[in-house]
Amino acid sequence: MVISAPRGTKDITPKESYKWNFLENKFKEICSIYGYEEIRTPIFEHTELFKRGVGDTTDIVQKEMYSFVDKGDREITLKPEGTAGVVRAFIEHKMNADAQPTKLFYITPCFRYERPQSGRQRQFHQFGVEAIGGDSPSLDAEVIALAMQFLNELGLNDLSVSINSVGCPVCRESYNRLLKDYLLQKSDVLCDLCNDRREKNPMRVIDCKNETCQSNIVDIPLMADHLCEDCQKHFETLKEYLDEMDIRYSVDKKIVRGLDYYKRTAFEIISNDLGSQSTVCGGGRYDGLVELIGGPKGFSGIGFGMGVERLLLTLEANEIEIENPNKTDIFIVTIGEKAKLKSFSLLKELRKEHFSADKDHLDRSVKAQFKYSNKVNSRFTIVIGEDELEKDEASLKDMETGEQRLIKISEIVDELKKGI
Ligand code: ATP
Ligand code: MG
Repeated sequence: MVISAPRGTKDITPKESYKWNFLENKFKEICSIYGYEEIRTPIFEHTELFKRGVGDTTDIVQKEMYSFVDKGDREITLKPEGTAGVVRAFIEHKMNADAQPTKLFYITPCFRYERPQSGRQRQFHQFGVEAIGGDSPSLDAEVIALAMQFLNELGLNDLSVSINSVGCPVCRESYNRLLKDYLLQKSDVLCDLCNDRREKNPMRVIDCKNETCQSNIVDIPLMADHLCEDCQKHFETLKEYLDEMDIRYSVDKKIVRGLDYYKRTAFEIISNDLGSQSTVCGGGRYDGLVELIGGPKGFSGIGFGMGVERLLLTLEANEIEIENPNKTDIFIVTIGEKAKLKSFSLLKELRKEHFSADKDHLDRSVKAQFKYSNKVNSRFTIVIGEDELEKDEASLKDMETGEQRLIKISEIVDELKKGI
């Protein structure tokens, strides 16, 4: 029986891996400009971290986690998102003792047990940043600017930034009371899950995927209309900073985001052409998360996670191509055994000078070697024949112009260094 990759996972073959390399390098470059440094955390963590850090009432924790008990009876989960692990590492390495804010970025696979479809996988990848240790909207504005500069530099301009404020414990307390009263009146038309959410985390109802629920809550009270003074000020200041940077946004009071730990700013960057899975980037502020997972008080943070697979789909939908940088500078065609032997030392010399060079490895006929040289799109083909070899000569063919000339084998490397 043929064994295929598990449902919801994908191989990234050479037909695509060059695109991933390009995106990763670009992301690292932009992060570096903004002063964010890379952090790599484990693929798996104690399940408790995500229960606490992502939130017991979220879809992720309730339905989507890859959890198992390991041989030492530990409850382990493959990371469904990047923030919880980074915040755990921030605490564990006492980064709070360094000058703040702590600006980190990551590139990581994530695992969620979801129904696979275009732009939705069980193993997917995220680019993310976290700015921990500052509660000013200044950092909110910065991470949004970082995401936008990255996407813009890739050539994506048809993007919408939606921002919202999901309040803080102070304003959410009275808002939740209002919300519960509202939801109680609707209890017979809402799904079981929403009725359950009413008690545990009523704001989650706004995010319900059930259409009947959605059509019954069109006039649901929204957090952004009930912010306390501090949250209101934070939100207004963020808008001012975005305006100053000419970053266009709209306020979408229905963004609640999938993670429980968001406070105040929540945002999404949506590509206007990806259809249902259109959210490329989602982020928000998580004041209190550091403390929630056992760290010191007073370290708030903000960050985003960007789906790399969705980013690639967005680039495709916008017909933005990433050039494949892999090329063959020189291919060596040999005629006869002596020439074949010579090709080993010549190839070694060429590669030492970092030319991308190759030769036939399958004992092909001369004709087939030429054909293969064409197939690998080589810039030059060097032909070494038995007779020419005696005279230290070979012919060098420019594959673009078709021009061919004799050249001293001992001078090939220097010649190519001058001209390639
Ligand atoms: P969605 O509403 O699409 O399920 P989400 O709110 O669960 O998204 P986040 O937890 O904010 O997503 O994750 C950040 C980003 O990661 C998303 O904006 C998206 O680009 C990407 N993402 C999330 N889940 C998947 C998945 N299963 N497959 C591929 N990409 C994903
Ligand atoms: Mg989701």
